[in-house]
Amino acid sequence: MTVFFMNMQKNITIAIQKDGRLSQHSIGYLAGRGICAQKNGRRLVSVCNATNTRILWVRDDDIPHYVESGVADCGIVGTNVLAERGVSIPIISYLDFAYCKLVIAAPRANRICSLSDLRGKKIATSYPRVLQKTLKENNIRADIIYFRGSVEIAPELGLSDAICDLSQTGATLREHNMTPFHTILESQAVLIGTYTIPHNTVSRPLSTKHVL
Ligand code: ATP
Ligand code: ZN
Repeated sequence: MTVFFMNMQKNITIAIQKDGRLSQHSIGYLAGRGICAQKNGRRLVSVCNATNTRILWVRDDDIPHYVESGVADCGIVGTNVLAERGVSIPIISYLDFAYCKLVIAAPRANRICSLSDLRGKKIATSYPRVLQKTLKENNIRADIIYFRGSVEIAPELGLSDAICDLSQTGATLREHNMTPFHTILESQAVLIGTYTIPHNTVSRPLSTKHVL
């Protein structure tokens, strides 16, 4: 049997999350297209020689910037990150993973069950821009407290009355005695940028019949 490689036309650079919920799925997605994304120790760049592809291993929040600036031809990120950054980078395709929702939730004891109950309250979030937009659209004034992560701990520590955070099954919210009462957006992973990754970058081995 002859192995026949159909290399990419140009060297492309793809930005994916270094370490987190998108990482394994992104690696799997690329593998399905013949691109081997394998971390190179602590280096932020690795190369798939078979396809002349460079992989940038970065924080998910930075992926839109890499793509927007042209450093990467494409990247894999959640639509939640795109919404928060407010950028209009073309979405090449919607990927079937990292489904989650950006919700507003509060501890039951705080008796915050609707958007209007948020008036004058403190809301902890890593999504200040999207939250501010939602509050403004609903004529609600509240204090937004920015947290880079671990938002769910804020009410318990007395730092906020409610939170706005990502949730998939709601398990983390339940663990912290919180109930979501409003969904701001639904999110999933997307391939963004200017380069469509061919379905199988490296062709499957062809039978002799095909090669001839
Ligand atoms: P980084 O260090 O790269 O900034 P992070 O802490 O922001 O990592 P993760 O928690 O790994 O990010 O989440 C990455 C992305 O995965 C989110 O932006 C979102 O698109 C998606 N995501 C977040 N939470 C969930 C969840 N519970 N279920 C499924 N997907 C999620
Ligand atoms: Zn992040």
